[in-house]
Amino acid sequence: DFEERKQKGGEISNGKSQPEPAVEEEAVELPVGAVQIVVSQPDHKFGLNEKALTKILLHPDVKDRSVVIVSVAGAFRKGKSFILDFFLRYMKTTYSTNASLSGSADWIGSDEEPLTGFSWRGGSERDTTGILMWSEVFLTTLKDGEKVAVILLDTQGTFDSESTVRDCATVFALSTMISSIQIYNLSQNIQEDDLQHLQLFTEYGRLALADTGKKPFQKLQFLVRDWSFPYEAEYGMEGGKKILERRLQISDKQHPELQSIRKHIKSCFSDISCFLMPHPGLKVATNPKFDGRLAEIEGEFKSALQQLIPMLLAPENLILKEISGQKVKAKELLQYFKSYINMYSGDELPEPKSMLVATAEANNLSAVAAAKETYHQLMESICGGAKPYLNTAHLETEHLRIKEKAMDQFSKKRKMGGEEFSENYRVKLEADIEDLFKEFTCHNESKNIFKAARTPAVFFAIAVI
Ligand code: GDP
Ligand code: MG
Repeated sequence: DFEERKQKGGEISNGKSQPEPAVEEEAVELPVGAVQIVVSQPDHKFGLNEKALTKILLHPDVKDRSVVIVSVAGAFRKGKSFILDFFLRYMKTTYSTNASLSGSADWIGSDEEPLTGFSWRGGSERDTTGILMWSEVFLTTLKDGEKVAVILLDTQGTFDSESTVRDCATVFALSTMISSIQIYNLSQNIQEDDLQHLQLFTEYGRLALADTGKKPFQKLQFLVRDWSFPYEAEYGMEGGKKILERRLQISDKQHPELQSIRKHIKSCFSDISCFLMPHPGLKVATNPKFDGRLAEIEGEFKSALQQLIPMLLAPENLILKEISGQKVKAKELLQYFKSYINMYSGDELPEPKSMLVATAEANNLSAVAAAKETYHQLMESICGGAKPYLNTAHLETEHLRIKEKAMDQFSKKRKMGGEEFSENYRVKLEADIEDLFKEFTCHNESKNIFKAARTPAVFFAIAVI
């Protein structure tokens, strides 16, 4: 498609006897590649690359088509760009040859071919926060004859430093508002803090949209990477469904906060699903010389790609972007980008601070609870009800060892709000652990038959005095 377009572009300029330089420059196509279209600036305002967006969205072959917009979002260094490059490969191969219709699995390519596209190798370059768009728009035709354009978005951002939380929320919110499929890329599992972040981001997105009473966003696809419990839930769609049902289940027994997060997420998206990806193998995860070739990727990972990608991108499965129930054309998208960006830079929106604080609080509280649970469990296994009496020094040593473990667990847990915000919770955790230790100590003492035998006498003596 791109080659074809380049030729057309050439025809236009050749058609003029003496093209003016300025006009010719306007007609120049963007090089094939990732284009930073939304970028966080040092003042934390967001900039829009209108020039590039215009070139992509108002291209004659693209502008009047309905769009499908696929975005991948989530924390850093979790393989988002890497997987997007397989999306590119799939569309390049199947959309031009109709191979997908014959169910061909050949799109995945040859064993020795390096993986190119969005840059995925965790280099040393400074990581910006923003949204990238692939300059090449993929054109295909739906069963009913509708011609559509598929656009890929890659997002970048960290969740864990204080200064970037707002930027990150904005990037996530913007990409959710713009896309018809938002892929929420997670490492290893769907955890409570992943749901909390999602709630914050979607709320931040919803705030910017007029409330129509309908679900504001379309498809949410959880994508769990390095899933390592296939015996509990199998890789792919089916296992994903199991895990998702479990994680989004609402029950009266849950804390009201947990219930409300789940209700909120369900109320935001018209379709939610989950896919469990296996680990791609050690070469992918650790070898700095790895260039993405299939020969060095685990077979299970490749099979999972062959299930996942057609499920999202085969023409019969594409989800057209709709805003308030209307299909959106590429040329209209530009305006949406502009007004969404404006909302996040203007004063119309409430400062997300209170939402951020609420989320950071929830994050920290659940990290405290988890660390206390760890402490409690490990201490139970050492000096719980059925265990014999331990001498005081021994108990103290075990306490210190286990406490360190619990504190360490708390520190390592990904939390919003930054170090300073967490400090209060860390102090609280430490105090709670010391309280628990006192209880364990008392309980341990009560098992000391010698002391236990003496106690009534002492008591008696004090009472008499
Ligand atoms: P992004 O920051 O989320 O876009 O992550 P990248 O796509 O740049 O990938 C970061 C690193 O993770 C690269 O070195 C990849 O080789 C590696 N990687 C890609 N996919 C996976 C995966 O599914 N699991 C693991 N463990 N590593 C991956
Ligand atoms: Mg990336």
